[in-house]
Formats: sequence, C-alpha cells, structure tokens
Amino acid sequence: MELMWRTSHVSGGNAHYVEALYEQYLVDPNAVPDEWRNYFDQLPRPEGSSSHDVPLSPIRDQFYQLGKSRRRAQTASAADSGENKKQVKVLQLINAYRFRGHQKADIDPLDLRSPVPVPDLDLSFHQLTNADLDTEFQTGSFFLGKDKAPLKEIVQALDETYCRSIGCEIMHIVDTEEKRWLQQRFESVRSKPKFSPEVRKHVLERLSAAEGLENYLASKYPGTKRFGLEGGETFVPMMDEIIQRAGGYGTKEVVIGMAHRGRLNLLVNILGKSPSELIEEFDGKKVIERGSGDVKYHQGFSSNVMTPGGEVHLALAFNPSHLEIVAPVVEGSVRARQDRRDDPAGDKVLPINVHGDAAFAGQGVVMETFQMSQTRAYKTGGTVHIVINNQVGFTTSHPDDTRSTEYCTDIAKMVQAPIFHVNGDDPDAVLHATQVAIDYRQQFKRDVVIDLVCYRRRGHNEADEPSGTQPMMYSKIKNHPSARALYAKRLVEEGVLSEDDAKAMGETYRDDLMAGNHVANALVKQPNTELFVDWGPYLGHEWTGDADTTFDMKRMQQLAAKMCEVPDGVQVQRQVAKIYEDRRKMQAGGMGLNWGFAETLAYATLLDQGHPVRITGQDSGRGTFSHRHAVVHNQKDGSTYVPLENIKEGQPRFTIHDSYLSEEAVLAFEYGYATTMPNALIVWEAQFGDFFNGAQVVVDQFISSGETKWGRLCGLTMLLPHGYEGQGPEHSSARLERFLQLCAEHNMQVCVPTTPAQIFHLLRRQVIRPLRKPLVVMSPKSLLRHKEATSTLEELAHGKFQMVLPDQGKLDAEKVKRVVLCAGKVYYDLAAYRTENERDDTAILRLEQLYPFPKEELFEALKDYTNLEQVVWCQEEPLNQGAWYQSQHHMRVVADMLDNGLGRELKFAGRPASAAPAAGYMSVHVEQQRQLVDDAFNA
Ligand code: AMP
Repeated sequence: MELMWRTSHVSGGNAHYVEALYEQYLVDPNAVPDEWRNYFDQLPRPEGSSSHDVPLSPIRDQFYQLGKSRRRAQTASAADSGENKKQVKVLQLINAYRFRGHQKADIDPLDLRSPVPVPDLDLSFHQLTNADLDTEFQTGSFFLGKDKAPLKEIVQALDETYCRSIGCEIMHIVDTEEKRWLQQRFESVRSKPKFSPEVRKHVLERLSAAEGLENYLASKYPGTKRFGLEGGETFVPMMDEIIQRAGGYGTKEVVIGMAHRGRLNLLVNILGKSPSELIEEFDGKKVIERGSGDVKYHQGFSSNVMTPGGEVHLALAFNPSHLEIVAPVVEGSVRARQDRRDDPAGDKVLPINVHGDAAFAGQGVVMETFQMSQTRAYKTGGTVHIVINNQVGFTTSHPDDTRSTEYCTDIAKMVQAPIFHVNGDDPDAVLHATQVAIDYRQQFKRDVVIDLVCYRRRGHNEADEPSGTQPMMYSKIKNHPSARALYAKRLVEEGVLSEDDAKAMGETYRDDLMAGNHVANALVKQPNTELFVDWGPYLGHEWTGDADTTFDMKRMQQLAAKMCEVPDGVQVQRQVAKIYEDRRKMQAGGMGLNWGFAETLAYATLLDQGHPVRITGQDSGRGTFSHRHAVVHNQKDGSTYVPLENIKEGQPRFTIHDSYLSEEAVLAFEYGYATTMPNALIVWEAQFGDFFNGAQVVVDQFISSGETKWGRLCGLTMLLPHGYEGQGPEHSSARLERFLQLCAEHNMQVCVPTTPAQIFHLLRRQVIRPLRKPLVVMSPKSLLRHKEATSTLEELAHGKFQMVLPDQGKLDAEKVKRVVLCAGKVYYDLAAYRTENERDDTAILRLEQLYPFPKEELFEALKDYTNLEQVVWCQEEPLNQGAWYQSQHHMRVVADMLDNGLGRELKFAGRPASAAPAAGYMSVHVEQQRQLVDDAFNA
C-alpha cells in the first residue's frame, strides 16, 4: 500500500490536482475528463455505502474527506464554486507545463526545431483568461517558495523553469520521490541557479580550451579528419563538471565511452593527453611496436585528475567505428571495477556514455544497454548518458528519416531515466542540467540523460562539405557565433570579466598548446597507480599452450565434496538432487566423472587458488542442457543456494547469473569486464552457439582485434554449444568457420574439448597461465551425457589440456594406413564405427585446439604411423563450414612434415556444401552423419 501511495499518479505532486478533480467529479461526474471519471468510478466502496462514500486507501480516504467537505460546500455560494474551479484549472496548467513545457523550450541553438502546437500551455485551454492573471491561486506542489501567488507570477515561473534553455522530461517517472526531487531541483531555481563569477569564468576557460584546440588543429591540419567538436564545445565544461562533482562525491574511477566526434578534444582537454603526442599522430610520426594500431579518434586513454574529493582515475574506452557498441563495454568495465572495490551500490565508480543523436535513436544496442541498467548481473549504479546532439547523422537530418520518436532520447524513457534537453549555447543551463544529472545519479543510482542540443559546424568530418545536403542548416551555421563567443559576450555584459580577460583566456590556451604543455588543468602528473589494476604480470607473454593446471588430489577431493554440499534447509528438486547425488558418487570414485562435474570442479579449484569467477549467459545457472545446476533452487520457498559461493572462508567472488535475453550488449559487457579484471575467469555462455550471431560486432571489433588495434588484452571465455544432432539448421552450429576466419597473429584460441578432463584443464589454463587471450569453446550438447565421455579424478589432478588427443585405441602403429583427424563430438561416432567394424588400420586423432594450430603436437601424434597412406579430415559440418577451409593448410603442412606427400592428399569427409548450417529433417541428418563417418574410413 505504501508503494502504491508513493508511486500512484494520484499521489504526491499530483495529489492536489487529483483532489481538485475529484471535487469536481463529486459535484458533477460529467465535468471531468472521461479517463478520470472512469478512474473515480472504479474506486471500490464498502458494503452499504452510498456512492462516493468511505473509500479504503489513504487517497480514497482523502477523497472521502473531500467528498464530505464538498457536500458542505454545495451549500456555499456559486462564486466560491467558480473560484474553486479556477483553482483546479491553475493546478492543471502547472501540470501541463511539467508534462509538455519541454516542447516549447528554447533548446535549439539554430532554432531549426519545427514548433509543435502545445495548446495545454495556453491559459485559454484551461478556461483561464488574462483577467485572472492578478488573482492569487494556490501553487499546490509547484516549488515556487510560497503557497499562493498571482497567476501571472505562477505562469512566469513555469515558463522560466520549463520553457527556456532546459527542456525537462521527468513526468514519465513513476516514483514520486524521484519526480518530486527533480521538480524541486528545477522549479526552486527556475532552471537558472546563480553561479558565482569564479564558476562562470572557469566555464568560459574550458569553453575556450575546447574551441582553441579545434581552431589550432583546423589551421595546422586543414582538411585532415579529426571529427571536431565545433558547435558542441559546451561538452567540455560539461565533462569537466561531471568529473569534478563526482570526485566530490567520493568517486574514485570514471570510465567514459564515446564515439569519434569530440574525442580528441576530450582526450587533450579533459584526460590530459599530451598535445605533443597528438601532434605526432597528426604528423604521422607515431610508430607502434606491435599490432595494427588504430586511428587517433578511436584511441582510449587513462589518466588521473584531481577533484575536491581527491584523485580520480579516468579511463576512456577504446572504440571502434561501430557506434554505440562501446556503451555496454564501458558498463562491463565499470562493473569489474565496482566488484574489485566491493562497491555494489556504485558509489566509487561512475560510467559516462557519450552518444551521437542519430546513433542513439537508431541502434538497438542502446535499448539493450538501458535494459541491463538495473539487472543484478549488469547494474552499475546508474550511468550518465550524454547525447552530443548536433541534429544530423553524417548527411541525414530530415526528421522523417532519422527517427519515429519525438526526441532522439525517447528510448531512455523505457527505464524512466530523466532526460534534460539543454541548449548547448547556454553554458549556465548546461552546467545546471549537469549538476542535477550527477546529483540524481548519486542519489537514486539510476540512469540519467543529458541531451546537449548543439550543431556541427563542419561536415561529418573535415574533408566533407555539408551544405550539399543540408543547405538551410549550414547557411544558419555559417553566421552563427560560437558558444564561447556568445558566452564571453554575456559574461562581459554582465560584468563578470572584461573583454580583454576573455580574449586572454584563448591566447593563454593557444600558447600552452603550442608549447606542448598539458592543457587539462586538473591532470595529476604523478598519478596514484593504486587506483587501477596493474596489468604488468600479464604483459609481454608470447603464445604458449602449456600451463601447469595440475591440482593437489587431496584438496581437489575436499573441494569436490564442498561443491556437492547443500544445506539441510534447502529442499532440492528431484532431478537436481539426482545430479548432485551422482556428483557425490563421482567424488567418491564410484562413477566416471562427467562434464558438469569437471567443469564445476575447475571453477572450484580456481576459486580456491584465489581467482574470481564470473559466468553469465542465457540460462547459465542451470545450463541450457541442464548439466550445470550451479544454482540450487529451494523447492520450499524459491530461495537459491550456490555451492560455489561457499567453497571456503574468504574465497574470491563467484558470480553466476542468467542473463536477460541479449547477446550483443551482454557479450560487449563481458568483454569490458574481462579487459578490466585480468586475474579472473570470465565466461559468457550462449544458450546455443549460434546465438553469438547477434553479437558478431563484438567478436569482430573487440574480441578478435582489440589486442592488435589497441594493445588491450582480454581473457574472456565464450562457451558456445555446437554439434550436429538433427535439431535443424538453427542451433546446430556455433559457426566455427567464422571464428577461424578471424584468427591470425595468435589473437585468440578456438578449442573443441571432447572430454571432462579437457574442459577442466582448458578452463584452468585460461587463468593459471599469465597469458590473456580470448578463448572460444565449441562446447558440447549431447556429449554432456555421453557415456564414453568421462574422465577420472587422476586425469583432473595430474593431467593437462592436450591440444591434440592421440589415438585412444591399442593400435599397432605400423599397421595404421589411415589417420582420421577430427574435432568435437564426431570423434565418438568415428570411434564407435571403428570398434564395430574392427578397423585397426585407422587411427583417430582429435584436434582439441584448432587455433593457434598445434602443429608440433599434431606431428608428434602422427609421426609413429610410418606406413601411413591416407590422412582424412572428418567433420560434421558441411564442406563450406566448420574447420575445413580455414584449417586445412595447417593440416597439410603437418602431413607434409611426414615427408611422404600426404599433405597434398589430405581428404575431406563431411556434409556436402550447404547454404544452411544443417538439415531440417532428422532422417536426412542421420543419413548424412552415417555417410560422413563411412567416408572417413572408406572414401
Ligand atoms: P584503465 O584502468 O583502464 O585506465 O587502465 C589502466 C592502465 O592499465 C592502462 O593505462 C593500461 O596500461 C593498463 N591496462 C588496462 N586494461 C588493460 C588491458 N586489457 N590490457 C593491457 N593493459 C591494460
């Protein structure tokens, strides 16, 4: 009831208005709008009561009291009733401004916004006239500083608050406390607080810096692409304010994501990148030791700045051209930092995501990122979103083309984020909106959006002529003074500083720039390195597939027992109990170890050795195929118990979450997390392997290439269920070929483990080795329960991940004429065929790692077969898919090392080339599978 009262639209700020309406309704139900009449009609009444009597809830109680007083009032004079009616109208007018004032606000510096009619803001709409302007009315919940005021004053205050340089959208917020808080922040100062001369001079100085850098680069490198900020310079004082204010709140780290526009300006003027370094990049002098590198407007950066609350570490995320995808990466990085600091509320680390207007409205990942903002697995205590809204996306600006929503920010309403549209030419207003935004985030730990409405003085980039496609916009821009010029003029007029002082600011900045001095005035020259992680131990390692992943048997037994323990009070569901029971038998040595056991034990051992483990993905608590059951659901009360959280006292964090149904944002988040938390095992699991299709951009632009482009190491593990089991074109293939096609320069590992011991050692290798490389695992489905796919505790304790599994049969090497190479579950079909057909002339080798290709290990496994005549690659996937096209050259090289020309003879056994990943009919699947196994032995 309390919640209903706090959040209901008939409560809080709206209560006076609703009460007044209700009064009207009691007198004449037809006098109120239909929806309100319907609403009031529905209010339940206790038995025996007559209409409108004795309601039940507090609001209804109020209505009851109102009703009684109304009945008394019915006897009062007609004049009184007329006054009351007007009072209702005034309250309606106040509400109308709160709802729709932004539509009339002066937020566009170019004044290009087509005016929309907002009749609700006219007096006449509310049956008020100029004759009422001098009459005093109650101000209701409007924060005017007094209970009563003449209508004239109320209207003026409303207009100043809601229709000037800030257009506030807050009425979609359901929570009354939040809404009242926001209303108070704007209404009490009429959206225009009085900033001190020092503050305003500082803003002008930062504006001069923003403009100064662009002017300098424009004159020195005309026509060179830099995606300048011109037109949106107020962004720089805005960022400065957010960081300083956040620092004042005790924030220790700020992670920023942004696309290319304005990035150089942010780098130099806020993060403190050295201007001389930037100039080197412009001059093309910068050389890199390794990797491809990336263009300057994609570069990330890290630095520390001083704030009123102490030193704050800033990290600007590296960013590909794919717009908006960096936003969830930033969230992941922030969450990793919050986890490291044990900061679940998000007090210590702040995410800022900077967007372009066109991309914010257009890209689906924006919605996915908002959707994650309050979920258990992904929340970061609220993000400050800034839209650099230059009202054009490359060459597209016609409102009928860019979006269907009214504003480019409307998507943010889905999480009830407050949205402040603010005129970029009014730095005071920008400062106010910024302060409210950061205060709101700190107070309510929710997302907030600042829509910085500005323009783009040049084309999409500096080599681009914009007037060809935007003639009207650019004829306006040509004659439009810069934000700095306008603000300087205003401050001079208001006597804040002299014209000479204003000019000097620009000159000082330019001198510093030319001297190569740092121009971010808060930069800390000797940064406190404790504010961020030391990646030193993980840097500079060459590729190796080896790692000591063995584990003490006795301790492993103890951990195995622990991971099977469920407290007495937890009533375990029947099938789950059976799985746990089986695991206990495995631990006791009475049963071969299965996949679920080995995988869970890998996590337990890593936790025991001090490595945090985080697993998220679709249904990963249970596992798509019910093999994991890492989260036990108490059948009595729905509570959960996670054995891996209870391995030992003081153990590292174990996190497992079912993700919401996203791939793109979620995988990007985990990439961000893994690139920030090097000592942990970070796993993303797809429900079926092909679900990663929805996140291809993350694989292409971050996972496979982030290290070579940006030197950012990443140890993320992707578990992608893969295997041909007759379930149709969808969900059979995790598109192995796509990953292999992206492989080069040892950028990532692609593995297809086929035994429990192999997944145990593979997962452990990922963390135990200091090397940090993404790991793509084609993980099993039916193999999870295959009776042949078992391992022993000894193999776990004493083994290692074998990149090539040699033949498991007891063959006489000299008799072997044929070797079948394969990867994945087809091995078990091949092995069954061999047993059934007694083919001791054929060895079967499993490539458990396809990239980096284990040439030496494969050679080792082949070299004893001295009478070999045929090497066959067998795969379940069609000819044009799987590993064949991407890996055959590696296999040929190894077969050639045998020095008998076998490499050139390498044969293929698999499904015929196919446009779809798999057949849709079980009968076709079965026949294809039989044929490819047969081909492997006989073709
Ligand atoms: P950050 O906290 O992201 O600003 O990172 C601080 C410093 O750690 C950076 O300047 C890098 O030198 C290093 N670093 C951060 N992330 C990585 C990574 N994924 N790979 C390698 N070095 C990193």
